[in-house]
Amino acid sequence: MINIKDLTLTELESFIIELGEKKFRGAQIFSWLSKGIYSFDEMTNIPKNLKAKLKDTAYIENIICEAVFSSSEGETKKYLFKLYDHHLIESVYMRYHYGNSVCISSQVGCSMGCSFCASTIGGLKRNLSAAEMIEQLLKIQKDINERISHVVIMGSGEPFENYDALLKFLRIIHTEEGLHLSYRNITVSTCGIIPKIIDFAHQMPQVTLAISLHAPNNSIRDSLMAVNKKYPLDKLLKACKEYIDLTNRRITFEYSLIQGVNDSEENAAELGSLLKNMLCHVNLIPLNKIEENELNGSDRIKAERFKQILEKYRINATIRRELGSDIEAACGQLRRRYSKKTGDMKQKLNEQLTMKNE
Ligand code: SF4
Repeated sequence: MINIKDLTLTELESFIIELGEKKFRGAQIFSWLSKGIYSFDEMTNIPKNLKAKLKDTAYIENIICEAVFSSSEGETKKYLFKLYDHHLIESVYMRYHYGNSVCISSQVGCSMGCSFCASTIGGLKRNLSAAEMIEQLLKIQKDINERISHVVIMGSGEPFENYDALLKFLRIIHTEEGLHLSYRNITVSTCGIIPKIIDFAHQMPQVTLAISLHAPNNSIRDSLMAVNKKYPLDKLLKACKEYIDLTNRRITFEYSLIQGVNDSEENAAELGSLLKNMLCHVNLIPLNKIEENELNGSDRIKAERFKQILEKYRINATIRRELGSDIEAACGQLRRRYSKKTGDMKQKLNEQLTMKNE
């Protein structure tokens, strides 16, 4: 059986032709799938005989919403989804002044082992299919009953370790006959898988690339991110410069400010000289605490000072608003199970379970 939601429009058209039908039926079916239809019978403009063939040869991916948690600031919701094999993943919705944004997971867990991140505890279970990534978006869109305009692939998982499914997902959600999301409104975040950075510049030059940097030198980065041993900072920044030359796009560097680890004035100056003259933006994110380690986020004064020093090097920097940390929906806090905190909240907030599963 074919997972029909996993097909790009071109692949779907070929599949329909193989079934002995006209190519244009592919676009019709693609459009239904993008609307969140889960039964071939509901596709009202598809003839009965084609529906019968589809039922015999294909299925429509569905994921189940287990819980929805709303943040006290009212602009963030975290969703816990169950997959066909009972694995759990989380996704986050954020309302911004410019539109509705979702943060999508690309893997069940993560193998990268960044020391500050909850997603990697327990390691990698498996990659998500493109269909499972699309499903996160569709389910959230249905729940909020508004169009999602922005997507960040920054949830659980390293998207460049699930590269083919990632590219497929991006192509499917960009397609005009479907969700038609602008590539410019999509951000993919990587911890720094160098060969894929260069390939991504060729494949998806309009999509924004974010790099999880988190350190101004190899010794701090080695202590926080295992990936730095394979792809050290100097090589990573060389790849980033090549990416900028190829795409002429600004790179976003994510920098979690960790008290006493990477947040000193010297660290800021070192980062400033590392990134000066690069077409880039630095997102400073005071670390969101997780219970499994002793790392704490920097305070606002420290974050402001760090930002000022970067600005002396003419580097654009912002301190990211903390959205969703009270429901463990902020950066680095996503998991593949209920955390203790969300477990407690599940009881208290059960009435907030607004989503009706298909
Ligand atoms: S920060 Fe990203 S790459 Fe690192 S462990 Fe977490 S999900 Fe994986």
